Amino acid sequence: MNTTQTARPALRFLSADTTTGIVAYAVASQHDASRTNIISLDTQTGATFCTCRASECNHTCWHETAIVAAWANEQAQREVIWLTDAQLVRYGKKHALCVATYQARTGRSRIEDRVALLVARGEYRRRVRLSLIERDALISQRAA
Ligand SMILES: [Zn+2]
Repeated sequence: MNTTQTARPALRFLSADTTTGIVAYAVASQHDASRTNIISLDTQTGATFCTCRASECNHTCWHETAIVAAWANEQAQREVIWLTDAQLVRYGKKHALCVATYQARTGRSRIEDRVALLVARGEYRRRVRLSLIERDALISQRAA
């Protein structure tokens, strides 16, 4: 097994069909420069589909894991931007608790919770950096 970490390219958002609930992303093939892989996610069932060579051979590819994280990130980014500072702190704590609970009970946490936690932390840091965060939210975060 190759343990060398190679940087994987980020998936590029293509479309979200509000009728079917299917979202699609694209990523350039790392093996064939002339090829673009299309990955889809059924947001209602969680089923994934990919057009890459590994998928053609019925292997699970990294794209199908990556699209779940990419879509969770997209959703979390949209959610946190509208939250008040206090709501943002609660949102982050809720997902931190979910990560810890799943980790303790099953040995692994849900990718949606991990992504939401990362997004919440990023938004919190952004607000602190820009001095946008309310003093009460800052104090409650430190007290916790
Ligand atoms: Zn694939």
